[in-house]
Amino acid sequence: MVTTSHPQAYPPASHKFWGSLCLSWYTLSQEAPGKDRVERGRVRPLILRTWRLESVCYPTTRMSRQNLLDLLPSELEDLAESLGVPRYRGRQIASWLYGKGATDIEAMSDLPRDFRAILADRATVAVPEIERRTPSQDGSQKLVLRLEDGARIQSVLMPDADRLTLCVSTQVGCGFACAFCLTGTMGLERNVTAGEIVGQVLAARAGLEPGARITHIVYMGMGEPLANYAATVKSLRLLTDPKAFGFSPRRITVSTVGLVSGIERLAKENLKVNLAISLHATNNEIRDRIMPVNKGFAIEELLEACRRFPVAFRQRITFEYVLLEGVNDSPEDSRRLVRLLKGIRAKINLIPFNDWEGSGFQRPALHRIMGFQELLLEHGIRATVRWSKGEDIGAACGQLKETVEV
Ligand code: SF4
Repeated sequence: MVTTSHPQAYPPASHKFWGSLCLSWYTLSQEAPGKDRVERGRVRPLILRTWRLESVCYPTTRMSRQNLLDLLPSELEDLAESLGVPRYRGRQIASWLYGKGATDIEAMSDLPRDFRAILADRATVAVPEIERRTPSQDGSQKLVLRLEDGARIQSVLMPDADRLTLCVSTQVGCGFACAFCLTGTMGLERNVTAGEIVGQVLAARAGLEPGARITHIVYMGMGEPLANYAATVKSLRLLTDPKAFGFSPRRITVSTVGLVSGIERLAKENLKVNLAISLHATNNEIRDRIMPVNKGFAIEELLEACRRFPVAFRQRITFEYVLLEGVNDSPEDSRRLVRLLKGIRAKINLIPFNDWEGSGFQRPALHRIMGFQELLLEHGIRATVRWSKGEDIGAACGQLKETVEV
């Protein structure tokens, strides 16, 4: 049964935990299976507790009308039935939303007039508005999208040969504070709803040249997808449902900073999407320093979860590795990476650091980047150097930042 309130407005299950956050250090000690984690947890217990919840702990805005984009096709059928019309009306709504990209309920002309009026009274189609579109010299485009409550997120369209990839955001800002990432300096404002995630696809699609189509989707924009688990999974179901967007799951990649229990949950969802891990270091000392999440989920634990993750036939888990001069770019790092990834069907994306003002990091020299890659290739590891797209417009990996206005 579908309710007409916003499904992500105030997730009660997770909010129950807000009041207990101050008990987090105690709880973490009880949960932690090993001394190592307990000692690690001492550093940032409150945040770690929040990560362990991986929940929708950050309230999204309360909206009075149901965003139809938050509903799966089967839920649209439930909604139609609850409003007193046959279930097939729900299927008609789905085809207007996803097939024709309709944003005006009144324009859904094969629905009875009375039903349209009732529906428009209770529901809306809230597609994020493209506020700014910045083209890059390399053909990619950064889209700044304004959400219903005024918050802003970014998506990036990246053409490459016969592919057109859209990079979507799952949170307004990000609370994980990776040291090399500009988005991490924003802090977390709120989670994005499932409808706002798929809304980025609809908004980007509506602005394409005739004949062009989005072929791949990557969850690598602002935010950590698995920290907004429910909305991420629902949006994946919407994108892969043949009655909604109908994307092949093999063309969708979810990237995570390494939330182990989120990876384990995702493994059981039977979504068959690709997984990418932001690894960026080969030992806990360096990873602790540049990615605070590592204090909660150490490298060994993360890679064990990857070994258990169901990887589709001919697919591999992607490991993202940003190369930072003098931090993680030595030949020893490269060799350690080979040892760490043993037994995992892996490919590595080496990302030369994309500079931003005040970062405190530098991109390694070209010979060092190529040397790092060569060592991996010599050991039979598939490794590609990714010269990020959109660097000149601040749309490359780790460069997304937008003024938040809520
Ligand atoms: S790299 Fe990802 S998880 Fe880390 S701060 Fe940036 S957006 Fe957040």
